[in-house]
Amino acid sequence: MELYPHVHQIQSLYGGRNLFQYLFAGANTVLLDTGIAATPEKILLPYLERLKMPPARLTLAVTTHADLDHQGGNDSLKRLAPQVLLACGEQDRELVEDPAALFARRYNHLRDAHGVGVDPQLAADAGRRRRMDLTFSGGERIALDNDWSLEVLHVPGHSEGHLAFYDRAHRAAFVGDAIHGRGCPKAAGGMAIPVTYYDVDVYLSTLRYFENLPMDVLYSGHWPVMRGEEIRDFIADSRRTVELLDGALLAALEKNPAGLTLAELIDVAAQAAGDWPEEGKTLAMFPVKGHMDRLEQLGRARVLPGSHPVRWQKA
Ligand SMILES: [Zn+2]
Repeated sequence: MELYPHVHQIQSLYGGRNLFQYLFAGANTVLLDTGIAATPEKILLPYLERLKMPPARLTLAVTTHADLDHQGGNDSLKRLAPQVLLACGEQDRELVEDPAALFARRYNHLRDAHGVGVDPQLAADAGRRRRMDLTFSGGERIALDNDWSLEVLHVPGHSEGHLAFYDRAHRAAFVGDAIHGRGCPKAAGGMAIPVTYYDVDVYLSTLRYFENLPMDVLYSGHWPVMRGEEIRDFIADSRRTVELLDGALLAALEKNPAGLTLAELIDVAAQAAGDWPEEGKTLAMFPVKGHMDRLEQLGRARVLPGSHPVRWQKA
């Protein structure tokens, strides 16, 4: 659907969640995110056909961050539209270019020490290896037309190289998965998956950054469109969730002097959040690990030496 003149939100479903790409049709035509491997052919092409826009019009496709539902269509898009330049955040580049690296270093890096990981069957949706044509680090400007541009923002936390895009003329921000609320909703209502930030302090600084960005409307990878008060509430809810998990994890360590594993701490976090569904809760391994790393740095938790899977105790 057209959000405002020349700007489109392209919707599909993935795992019960909305999956949104954004298309800016100016003199340069820019796509934000390529979805999963099947998205360009099944969703994007039919959408372009309805606009009577040949794929040869696409100038640039930027992946907001390293995740299979945002980068998975890069290779298939490049096959459909060989002229399109592919881009992503520099710090996410290796993971965006190579699905094997994405699974090894972002999804299953906790498997050996903690016994938790992501279903390898999902690898098909991550598409094939594909080189990026250019990378952004934040501060760049993408020209859409003579007097219309997108500002590139570096908003890490969910990933190191996470990008957002700011249309200052329309006071609109396109934030991908940089802000999580209390989790990611299903399209039909209710929660689909937990929050999935990795680095707690970096995520908090990104939330603060967005609080100070003048915006009337916020568009994301999976969440509903938000305006005004809704944006402030969403960011406040995101910060409250960080505090909620931090408090719950620390309290659980206090109650369990023998220590707790990552899997047990995921249950603690899920119980504190209250509405993360059982089948998706493992993804809380990322924020929970982030919180435990931070508690260790603060000297409030420590790893029980020699434990396997790793157990944390109160320090
Ligand atoms: Zn996503």
